[in-house]
Amino acid sequence: MAETKSTCCYCGVGCGVVIEHEAGRITGVRGDPDHPANFGRLCTKGSTLHLSASPETLAARALHPELRARRTDARTRVSWDDALDTAADKFAAIIAEHGPDAVAIYGAGQLLTEDYYVFNKLMKGLIGSNNLDTNSRLCMSSAVAGYKLSLGADAPPCSYEDIRHTEALFISGSNTAFAHPIAFRRVEDARKANPDMKLVVIDPRRTDTAEAADLHLPLIPGTDIALYNAMLHVMLWEGWVNRDYIDAHTEGFDALKKIVREYTPAMAASICGLDKNAIEQAAQIFATSKATMSMYCQGLNQFSFGTHNNSALINLHLATGQIGRPGAGPFSLTGQPNAMGGREVGGLANLLSAHRDMANPAHRAEVAALWGVDSVPATPGKSAVELFKALKSGEVKAVWIACTNPAQSMPDQALIHDALKTAEFVIVQEAFGHTETCTYADLLLPATTWGEKDGTVTNSERAITRVRAAVSAPGEARHDWAIVVDFARRLGTRLGKGALAERMFSYASPEEIWNEHRESTRGRDLDITGMSYTMLEQAGPQQWPFPEGASAGKVRLYEDGVYPTPTGRARFVATEHRITAESPSAHYPLHLNTGRLRDQWHGMSRTGLVARLYSHESEPLLHMHQDDMERRRLADGDLVKVKSRRGEVVLKIQQSATVRPGQCFVPMHWGGNTMGGQGVNVLMPSDFDPTSKQPELKHAAVQVEKY
Ligand code: SF4
Repeated sequence: MAETKSTCCYCGVGCGVVIEHEAGRITGVRGDPDHPANFGRLCTKGSTLHLSASPETLAARALHPELRARRTDARTRVSWDDALDTAADKFAAIIAEHGPDAVAIYGAGQLLTEDYYVFNKLMKGLIGSNNLDTNSRLCMSSAVAGYKLSLGADAPPCSYEDIRHTEALFISGSNTAFAHPIAFRRVEDARKANPDMKLVVIDPRRTDTAEAADLHLPLIPGTDIALYNAMLHVMLWEGWVNRDYIDAHTEGFDALKKIVREYTPAMAASICGLDKNAIEQAAQIFATSKATMSMYCQGLNQFSFGTHNNSALINLHLATGQIGRPGAGPFSLTGQPNAMGGREVGGLANLLSAHRDMANPAHRAEVAALWGVDSVPATPGKSAVELFKALKSGEVKAVWIACTNPAQSMPDQALIHDALKTAEFVIVQEAFGHTETCTYADLLLPATTWGEKDGTVTNSERAITRVRAAVSAPGEARHDWAIVVDFARRLGTRLGKGALAERMFSYASPEEIWNEHRESTRGRDLDITGMSYTMLEQAGPQQWPFPEGASAGKVRLYEDGVYPTPTGRARFVATEHRITAESPSAHYPLHLNTGRLRDQWHGMSRTGLVARLYSHESEPLLHMHQDDMERRRLADGDLVKVKSRRGEVVLKIQQSATVRPGQCFVPMHWGGNTMGGQGVNVLMPSDFDPTSKQPELKHAAVQVEKY
């Protein structure tokens, strides 16, 4: 038996794994005891990775390129040459007739950094459009925008290491015990080691994470800003703000102070549906502990004001000086394994490589020079929801979807399915051939996946780890980066840029792509010029920044109180309570909240293959409070129709004390293929935050009736 060290492909904790394999088959997996993210631990999902790669799961894999001439035809197997020539012909013809913005790429936080890099270079460098977005838009873009707005850069200041130094941990909008289990093990360890450490959980539901808290604030969904403003009101009233820190390192406090004057605990209590004493208690714990840390995730990000949710929380850290010290600071938990790596290469429609700013002509010129092209476009491309709307309207004609399943994961599913039906040409590059999106593929390109791929990922704490292949690709599957490189050369020839494409995409290995990417970061805030593959292999995962000549990365940022803003000061964001995209009404009287289960991951294309992972929850259930069930004469196990303004699904119902009256919850994992036609995201609105463009996947107003 042989062993290969790699990284878990699920969440942003980024646990190290040791893959056991024999005769070209993955036979087992265990936690890597040397990996600093998990020290040998794995959760149920990570510890069953080998089962998702067993020979029995081969039937679910895309193994050969498949093409169809018309939507009504079945796809048939074709050679890679035919597949990529057809793709290049289609893209070239559309670009020639309608311009570069008539094509788009929609990728994923599951891609490796090297895959991301070449996709980004293809679209923004060779094709000349910024129409490249990814499912990170659904996950982290509000955290990105919040960090930039408040602190000046998309850089999480903390590390997992800080959990053991904190005296007060605030977890907001995250069921960390389920969604980031190994990070939560650290929280449990820290509390054992320091019984005085306080855990405060801010979440509409009484989740397993909330159950463990010293104080749980079960706020009405989408009322976080009112809560944080009221906490700051209390801090000001009690003299708990850190005036020295505010004066020395921040700007904009007076404008915020004026706003929070109105946010008395009583006023916020009525908006948030909370006890005012609990708000005062939370403010005291936050401000008076020696070190306060916040961990947060989709419960802040997935709102049409997600950026300000983030900034309102960061305001509290700045006002109390709870940042830049061991155990203190705001720490966004990344939902996906490599959303961070994607951000680093500029893999969103409004970003450029190495945290460069698309609106900055000097930054665009730097990227153009790095890539050897005349220019990169200045206009941001279409973000996820905008992209699918443009496909539906015909403004975008062709889309290349890689490593993600928007026909299950995007909100307002009717819109997404219409868009994919209307599109002139849909390429789906996937490891798994059974996803909802594959149904719409005119061209299906089989890709390699976990255990078969080589490259790097970055986890939530800025730590970059090598991902390694243990076995070879099944069937004719190819690596994502290699497909892009092959396509780019063919497209270049058709666009009259053959020599340029040959130069731009001359890579023979992911390491060559990595070396170009790390060079692109030279002098930037995330400078990783000191990290080579060899170094990562010898020394293990490293946190950025790690410039050439450095001996270690940075565990935490802003320890000197200097921020990457024009003035060097962090910015208070004066923000007010906002209303969710839709409020409960007589027709749709309930708040619906969605979230993760412990043992499933995203759209279940991988975890859904492992029978053992259904033993925790075998099907999607609507969780509802006893009072609401009695009012509707519903009993456990009844089938109910859940209806929003956009669509409806039929589910079994389960009484649950985890949700408050007037609210209900359904897990996000099941899509149309597993729910007989419509997945849960058919219910959710596509309204998005104007800054981050992240849609409000966390909340809808619904009605529930017996089916
Ligand atoms: Fe994988 Fe996340 Fe579980 Fe770690 S915590 S094993 S990264 S799913």
